[in-house]
This record gives sequence, C-alpha cells and structure tokens, in this order.
Amino acid sequence: MTDGMDEKAVAKLEKEGHEVVLESIDHAALLDGALGEFDAIIVRSATKLTSDVLQASGSRLKVIGRAGVGVDNIDLPTAGRMGIPVVNAPRASTQSVVELTLGHLLACIRHLPRADRSLRQGRWEKSAMKGSELSGKALGLIGFGRIAQSVGRIAQAIGMEVHAYDPYLPPKIAKAQDTRLHKSVDALFSNCTHVSIHCNLSDETYHLVNAERIASMPQIGKDGSRCGNHIINCARGGIVDESAVEQALASGQLTSAALDVFEHEPVDPAHPLLQMEHFHGTPHIGASTIEAQGRVGMDIATNVMDVLAGKASDFVVNKEYL
Ligand code: NAD
Repeated sequence: MTDGMDEKAVAKLEKEGHEVVLESIDHAALLDGALGEFDAIIVRSATKLTSDVLQASGSRLKVIGRAGVGVDNIDLPTAGRMGIPVVNAPRASTQSVVELTLGHLLACIRHLPRADRSLRQGRWEKSAMKGSELSGKALGLIGFGRIAQSVGRIAQAIGMEVHAYDPYLPPKIAKAQDTRLHKSVDALFSNCTHVSIHCNLSDETYHLVNAERIASMPQIGKDGSRCGNHIINCARGGIVDESAVEQALASGQLTSAALDVFEHEPVDPAHPLLQMEHFHGTPHIGASTIEAQGRVGMDIATNVMDVLAGKASDFVVNKEYL
C-alpha cells in the first residue's frame, strides 16, 4: 500500500493471512522494479502505475487495487496485457463527494469564502455579499452516474430543475429521476446557469468545459433572476479548462467557480485562479471524510482479496484488456 490506508483495512488483510507493507515508493524506485516482490499493490491517486512501471515490475504482481474511483493513474491496457486485473472501490466515496459538491455550490452562490475573508479583514460588507438562491434555477450535471444522480436528487429537493448530459446513460435512468437528458453538451450549457462536473476524465472529456461553452450559459435563472453563471468541478482535473474559467471570471461571464480537482496537483500557489476573488478551491478532498476513508479501505481490501482468491469480482475495471 503506497498511498496510505485506513488501519481497519490493514487489520482485515492481516487477519486473512496477508503480509501488509505500508510504504510510499517514489517513481524512480517504481521504475527500478520496486514492485517485483509483491503479489498485490493498493494505491490511491498519488502513485502513478504507468506502463513503464508495470513492465519493470516483473511477473509476480497478480492484482492492482485502486482505493477510490478514478483509475487514470493506472495504465489499464498494459495491466490487462500483463494479465493483471485492476479493481477499484467506486461506491465508498459517493456520499462524501455528493455532500462536498453541494457545499461548493452553496459556498459559490452565497459567497461564503469571500464573505469570510472580508470579515476577517475587519469589514462588514453586507451589500457586496448579496447572493442568489439555488431554488428556481437550472442545474446541469455533466455525467449522470452515482454521484451526479444523488446530487440531482438533493438539488431537486432544494427546488432546482435538473439537466444532465451523459452519452453512455440509458435515457430511462434520467427519466425515472425527472431529469432532462440532453443529447449534446452544448445544449446543457445553454440551458443551465449552474453546471457541476461528474464524468470521468478521458480524451473525450479533456477541456470539455471551455470558453465557448461557458460563454453560452444564460446568466438569467429559470425564475427570471439575474443569478449569473456558476461552475463546480469535484470530478477530475483537466475536464475544466482552468484558463477559460479564469478569463470568464475576469469578464463576468462566470459569477463564481469552485474546484476540488485541478489539472496539475498539487496546485502551484501562483496559480492564476487562486488570485481570483470569485473563485474558491479545495485540495482534492472529495473522498476525505472519516466515513469514506473507512469504507474505501474495507471495500478495496475485499476486492483485492477476491481476485487473489480467484473469485469473480464486479469491480475489475480493465476487463476488456485482460
Ligand atoms: P460513475 O462512473 O458512476 O459516473 C460517471 C458518469 O460519467 C457515467 O455515467 C458515464 O457514463 C459518464 N460519462 C463518461 N464519459 C462521459 C462523457 N464524455 N460525457 C458525459 N458523461 C460521461 O462515477 P461516479 O462515482 O459518479 O464519479 C464521478 C466522478 O467523480 C469521477 O470522475 C470520479 O473520479 C470523481 N470522483 C472524485 C472524487 C474527489 O475526491 N473529488 C472522489 C470520488 C470520485
């Protein structure tokens, strides 16, 4: 386990007779074949299991576990060609990311980070902090999987109209949730003042949130109020073109933006978005809750042990390459 692990998960593996090594291994050592003595490796997002790293690991590795959802730090085709199943733990962090997304959305429209900064500087700026309500506005969800569906349900309870774009989703899922599913991502942007990203990072979704799409957002809510446009990304860095967001904040096309994930992490303190008053961010903490970390460790321990025991697992994400 190279990126840390909840102690209950370590205990669970040890109880089942596995020897657990909790150790951060740098990329140079990985390229030098440091994984050669292991049957299984469990990573989060920090360890990059590139093609070179996997090929340098020899033939002992039988399973790769990703303690979380996104597997963009693992070369799935190479692992598959080497006969190594990659399993993840996709459900453990869903509720935590849903709640963080709602937190960012509310922080955006009520200027919470800016109001707090101003208060600490001794100011009492009531009129400058006039916000808007979520109720009566259209929320566009890009990707309508586990996290987005749950965000959508809560947004509807608040009184939002929920739209989604997900070309891989059976339309009946959106229909069952009273959600307007768009055939094009452009249609979603031109209908929604609030957009939240919940798809995977892929060649298709890289910089999917760009200057043209932001410029097409309506500024006026479905209820007629001038609420401005707002963008949230708690999915993966790189889906949002950060310089387009910066320019849109500067021009007023965006009223606010919040990111939990960035194209390059950790973020450079000189990042232009960190200088923008109407931007706020968090350091990729979507899954950082006591509950999610506990669940993720137990789930990935189970999924890795299933593969080691030769059992079928629903959580293998590189089936097509094996
Ligand atoms: P999910 O697989 O249930 O949903 C993802 C959805 O995106 C799927 O329905 C899929 O069809 C859709 N999709 C794929 N390509 C698309 C495209 N080109 N355009 C639109 N939709 C597309 O996953 P989830 O559990 O809901 O997770 C969603 C995202 O949140 C993932 O990117 C995941 O990595 C990320 N995540 C972030 C954190 C964090 O710490 N911030 C934690 C967990 C998950």
